[in-house]
Amino acid sequence: MASTDDIIIVKNVSKFFGKVQALRNVSLTVKRGSVVVLIGPSGSGKSTLLRCMNHMEIEDEGEIWVDGQRLSRDEKIINQVRADIGMVFQHFNLYPHLTVLQNITLAQRIVRKRSQEEAETIAMEQLKRVGIAEKAHNYPAQLSGGQQQRVAIARALAMKPKILLFDEPTSALDPEMIKEVLDVMLDLAKAGITMVVATHEMGFARAAADEVHFMDEGCIVESGTPEMVFDHPRFERTRQFLSQIL
Ligand code: ADP
Ligand code: MG
Repeated sequence: MASTDDIIIVKNVSKFFGKVQALRNVSLTVKRGSVVVLIGPSGSGKSTLLRCMNHMEIEDEGEIWVDGQRLSRDEKIINQVRADIGMVFQHFNLYPHLTVLQNITLAQRIVRKRSQEEAETIAMEQLKRVGIAEKAHNYPAQLSGGQQQRVAIARALAMKPKILLFDEPTSALDPEMIKEVLDVMLDLAKAGITMVVATHEMGFARAAADEVHFMDEGCIVESGTPEMVFDHPRFERTRQFLSQIL
């Protein structure tokens, strides 16, 4: 019997894109309030796994449970799950023709049915939290990459999600901007937000992760604390990968 502490349960999930098998019998659980980091080479299935967790992709085999609810193709359930799970992407995905504030209020109004006033209040709170309230009336193109990514995080937070998924949130950033985004993510981790993060930022993983999963060719090869996986990897494939990124 699964514990109710497990906010995400992925059970024997496989996913195919035509002949390509992106996920091979993947199982993992995410405890409420924990931080889980996914590492692995490009093409190993990290994004697909994250996207299955909020049903941007639907698994072909296996089961995914989020907060006690089995994900299905039922549109009502999918919409509810997507509203409850925020996602932050590598390329920010802000609307270029909307201001920062409008970017953050849009989904709140449509999905959460909040009034403009309430949505703006919450947007400003979250912009303060990520340290860029003064950019509320700017357009994304007027912001640095690090600032845009912090807006994307504020946008996700404004939905008051149960879980935040991050897909390589710093890999499109110039080196000098990586820290400002990781610092925000560390604050969220300390605040007890459940997070699943695909990243190769070892410093972040060591500081924030409760559990690290190393993926290769659609499989979870090994899992453990950051110390276990980074300092005492059990498998040659993990060692090889770590030697390339460290
Ligand atoms: P990662 O995020 O670890 O780089 P992905 O989950 O993006 O890995 O990709 C896993 C595998 O699935 C790769 O072989 C990739 O080419 C394939 N794949 C991912 N998304 C699609 C898609 N929409 N259509 C076809 N193949 C895809
Ligand atoms: Mg990816």
